[in-house]
Amino acid sequence: MNAFNDIAAIAGIGALCVFYYFVVYNPWLQKYWQQSMTKVEYLQWHADCVVGDKISCFQCGSTEQMDLGLARPTDFRRRIVCARCKTVLWRESI
Ligand SMILES: [Zn+2]
Repeated sequence: MNAFNDIAAIAGIGALCVFYYFVVYNPWLQKYWQQSMTKVEYLQWHADCVVGDKISCFQCGSTEQMDLGLARPTDFRRRIVCARCKTVLWRESI
């Protein structure tokens, strides 16, 4: 009976790891996120988008941005999105 409990505990921990990897970490979203530009890259590519101390959207020119989590609002992987046209501008992490 103890052996069964051990196996159940190990299986439970394994299931938690799988859950964490695929649902919380999400390798597909992680890859997508890493392909988007960093703020430094954005400023290099869109040097004309710097308006004074603000950064504008390269699509519509809006200087309003939204800070969104990647998989959920509390995600440490952030996407900075144009508030007007919803274009993903750059990525950040907290
Ligand atoms: Zn825009």
